[in-house]
Amino acid sequence: MTDISLKCACGKVKGTTHDVSAKNGLRVVCYCDDCQAFARELGQSDIALDQYGGTEIYQTAPGYVHFSEGEDQLRCLRLTKKGITRWYTACCNTPIGNTVNSNLPFVGLIHTILGDKDIRDSTMGPVISYVQGQYAKEGLPAERYNKAFPIGITLKIFLKILKWRITGKGYPNPFYKEDGKPISKPTIVNEL
Ligand SMILES: [Zn+2]
Ligand SMILES: [Zn+2]
Repeated sequence: MTDISLKCACGKVKGTTHDVSAKNGLRVVCYCDDCQAFARELGQSDIALDQYGGTEIYQTAPGYVHFSEGEDQLRCLRLTKKGITRWYTACCNTPIGNTVNSNLPFVGLIHTILGDKDIRDSTMGPVISYVQGQYAKEGLPAERYNKAFPIGITLKIFLKILKWRITGKGYPNPFYKEDGKPISKPTIVNEL
């Protein structure tokens, strides 16, 4: 199976996502306001979001993700105290992806770290779901509109996580230390 190189915009952070395929991950686009806020916070709306405010994400297991250079540049934030942990690079503010906690065998890698569209197309297959369409910008094509998370994709994510848990693909997790803490202390954007 195919590996995809991870690379931030400036090239300081490098790594690999192993065994990329439509079986080992789910390619989705999320239009939610939090994903949009994250891109805005980093000043990366132009490169991270599509014309309707969507973020393309490859949801896979942390065990497939490996950083080989620039790990010290990894940073994370939470939009709110209890929000999910959103990762980016300190060197050039490239969005990396989202995690929930060290126990959940899940990472949503953002396309900005995953290389060109043709590489993604040829390895991951097409986008299988567009979610949170109620937050999309005007003009979202009707065939992409789904309110919140449709049951089909929710079930698929759940089953993948279950499989990754059983097969031990949650580890090693490059985003967390052995004690379960994130490798970089999350900044909380809104302390409310
Ligand atoms: Zn960089
Ligand atoms: Zn989102």
